Amino acid sequence: MLFYLLLVFQANANAQIDPAHCRYPLGMEDGRIKDHAITASSQWYETTGPQYARLNREEGDGAWCPAGLLQPSDTQYLQVDLGQLTFLTVVGTQGRYARNSGKEFARMYRLNYSHDGQLWRSWKNRLGNKTMEANDNAYVSVIKDLHPPIISRYVRLIPVTKMPTTVCMRLELYGCPWHDGLTSYSSPEGQLMMPPGYPIASLNDSTYDGAHERRKLSGGLGQLTDGVIGQDDFLVTRQYHVWPGYDYVGWRNGSLGSGYVEMEFVFDKQRNFTSMKVHSNNMFYRGVKIFSSVSCSFKPRLIATWEAEPVEFRTVLDDRNPSARYVTVPLGRRNAKALRCRFHFADVWMMFSEISFQSDTVIPTQITPVVTSPWPMEESSMPTTHKTVTNPSAKDQPDDGNTPILIGCLVTIILLLVVIIFLILWCQYVCKVLEKAPRRILEEEVTVRLSSSSDTIILQTPPVPPRVSQMDHPYERIFLLDPQYQDPAGLRNKLPELSRSAETSACGGGYAEPDVTQCTPHQCFQSSVPHYAETDIVSLQGVTGSNMYAVPALTVDSLTRKDISVAEFPRHRLLFREKLGEGQFGEFSVQVHLCEAEGLPEFLGEGAPLPDRDGRPVLVAVKQLRADATNNARNDFLKEIKIMSRLNDPNIIQLLCVCVSSDPLCMVTEYMDNGDLNMFLSQREMESTLTHANNIPAVSLSDLLHMSVQISSGMRYLASLNFVHRDLATRNCLLDRRLTIKIADFGMSRNLYSSDYYRIQGRAVLPIRWMAWESILLGKFTTASDVWAFGVTLWEIFTLCKEQPYSLLSDEQVIENTGEFFRNQGRQIFLFAPLLCPPSLFELMMRCWDRDIADRPTFEGLYQALRPHVVQ
Ligand code: AMP
Repeated sequence: MLFYLLLVFQANANAQIDPAHCRYPLGMEDGRIKDHAITASSQWYETTGPQYARLNREEGDGAWCPAGLLQPSDTQYLQVDLGQLTFLTVVGTQGRYARNSGKEFARMYRLNYSHDGQLWRSWKNRLGNKTMEANDNAYVSVIKDLHPPIISRYVRLIPVTKMPTTVCMRLELYGCPWHDGLTSYSSPEGQLMMPPGYPIASLNDSTYDGAHERRKLSGGLGQLTDGVIGQDDFLVTRQYHVWPGYDYVGWRNGSLGSGYVEMEFVFDKQRNFTSMKVHSNNMFYRGVKIFSSVSCSFKPRLIATWEAEPVEFRTVLDDRNPSARYVTVPLGRRNAKALRCRFHFADVWMMFSEISFQSDTVIPTQITPVVTSPWPMEESSMPTTHKTVTNPSAKDQPDDGNTPILIGCLVTIILLLVVIIFLILWCQYVCKVLEKAPRRILEEEVTVRLSSSSDTIILQTPPVPPRVSQMDHPYERIFLLDPQYQDPAGLRNKLPELSRSAETSACGGGYAEPDVTQCTPHQCFQSSVPHYAETDIVSLQGVTGSNMYAVPALTVDSLTRKDISVAEFPRHRLLFREKLGEGQFGEFSVQVHLCEAEGLPEFLGEGAPLPDRDGRPVLVAVKQLRADATNNARNDFLKEIKIMSRLNDPNIIQLLCVCVSSDPLCMVTEYMDNGDLNMFLSQREMESTLTHANNIPAVSLSDLLHMSVQISSGMRYLASLNFVHRDLATRNCLLDRRLTIKIADFGMSRNLYSSDYYRIQGRAVLPIRWMAWESILLGKFTTASDVWAFGVTLWEIFTLCKEQPYSLLSDEQVIENTGEFFRNQGRQIFLFAPLLCPPSLFELMMRCWDRDIADRPTFEGLYQALRPHVVQ
């Protein structure tokens, strides 16, 4: 006998989306989106099929190219099936580079999207434009934010051209799963508010993508699900260039022929609803209030009648606090695929900016009651999948006559669960006894050998295909798993020698700046130069609700113009030439542009640190912070400027002037024609007869050594100022045409752009593969941890940046390996010796990764050791 048991799985307890943080790559680049999920209207060749449209990848002929010349009237498309409803916030595109043999790209594109692959909608930005600017060369990826975001499962990228041309594209989509599962809502259209003496507020749902008929919206999603929360004052908007009231959808009492606003919500599948959150305005002194009550009816299927008993909820009205707020409406754990809610007016106006639902997915699962089957052997030997009951109505109502069987089954399941829990606890106990922390670095993934010179274990990785992208996620989201990682104080107590080693090397705490007073190591430790492990640590509840993460708390002190010792350059004299790159991907992205600076030599005066111009215009790099960045980000940007304005060394990037008297904030630095060292090296091979014969761009061993010396020299200068960089890596070293290297990116030295980011997500974004063990475990950044990063940077240089450090280890394994460094029982895994690297140089790298902080070389020592190798 068969029956159904309704199992309810937790999908997402709190499904509010924050678009600023929902920006994860969805898997074009790393292959999580499989080839079969990527299709296209046409392809030029087999080798330019849709499966090659992966950002930063070079398989096939390097990109997807639709067949023939693209005409202005064409609608060729690349289609991606994301497998589930997804909240899309960012799109990244690239052309066909194909190791320097491709040159096709699309200058513009449009996006279509669909929930079901049948009904397609066109994406429009908030001003109604459908076309996005895309690439202007074949290699740089252009990242575009979607305002508004898209909620869909299928996406089509449609290249657009003004004249017939060949186009090829590579793509990445960014976002996160749409756990709400809401596929459409309907409501009366929003209205105009025309208060005497105030601007007119247009409270319509301007991004609604469904039908709009007879003053009713139906079948779509819009501003109520775009993740943008309205401000307390509904006239003030979060978007630029939009009208007052933009963030809200609002209705006037009496205008709808009833005292309520009726909305219907349709979901992707049947769900078990916990609550609904309605973000509502409450500017009562302007006649706006949250709703006084709401009643919600449910129906289990779309073609069904509304169930008789609605859920009623009465709010507590508030005439004192005019703040906009979320009102949480409990939905009584009712099952439904659609909801109809009537929101009753409490005043003249009611305005919503966002509605989200908290629900669990209802998954009907078949259970075979083996024990009571009349033919136990035959029944239980049959595969469960053969025992499908096709009557859907049975799903919702288990047969009452089978109650004893149901109870028997439940008891069996509970017993099984108890056994599993017992086994897990027992395993954990055994693991703990055997060793204190998990060592899960899979041995079959790595070949371990003992180096000849010492007992050090060297990680030997099999050859990995060359990397093309500038960097493969150098900053990893880290999840500190082991409780002892989460308690630096506890860790310190456990290991007295740790305190001793700290005593001898604590100079230059995490937040050291050039003006930190010099002190002896002992004094430094005594006077406790703050580093975040000790003083600034904040504990956060992680997104899973159980893990606690240690992250630095930023003290934001406001900076004034007098802190910045470089001059303000007239912004209009910076003439844009091209985009060089994008910094810190995320909420507070910074753009780097190549600009011509009119009259800069005269402006800076004699002796200005400008390269020979040979009569050509002066080119500069302009790093610009988004104008809508938060105050914290602006303050951090100004701090980077302040730091840079005090640095002056041939191997440190030179700040020339700034534009900070108005938005957007800009810093102007010398332009380094060869870009960053990671990109530069990853595109080159070692000099050989082959590279000569085939004109392949190449570097010599002496070039690599010269680069290493220059970086050590720049770092020596920073160390002499007690300045801790905290993010030394090839990606942060820039090169000019003479291969002079300058260290850049002083962002991390003050947790640039990170304060909100770290706090909100409860997760640190850190370059863990470059970080010393004490930085990861204790949050301790010193010149000695910069030395560690220098060792990794040397390693990158001598592998020609063809792979990421520890590329075979996951982030978790990298952190576990850090634990091994700390325990120092000879089980730590080091980076392998690069093929090109002279043994003495690898020994130098190994010294940089010495577990004992005090035993690592100084930058002066490194410089002196490296310099003699350079052929003058
Ligand atoms: P950043 O935000 O400083 O990491 O810059 C992002 C990217 O812009 C870098 O990886 C470089 O490719 C490019 N870039 C930054 N500064 C310069 C510069 N001064 N000259 C040339 N390219 C630069």
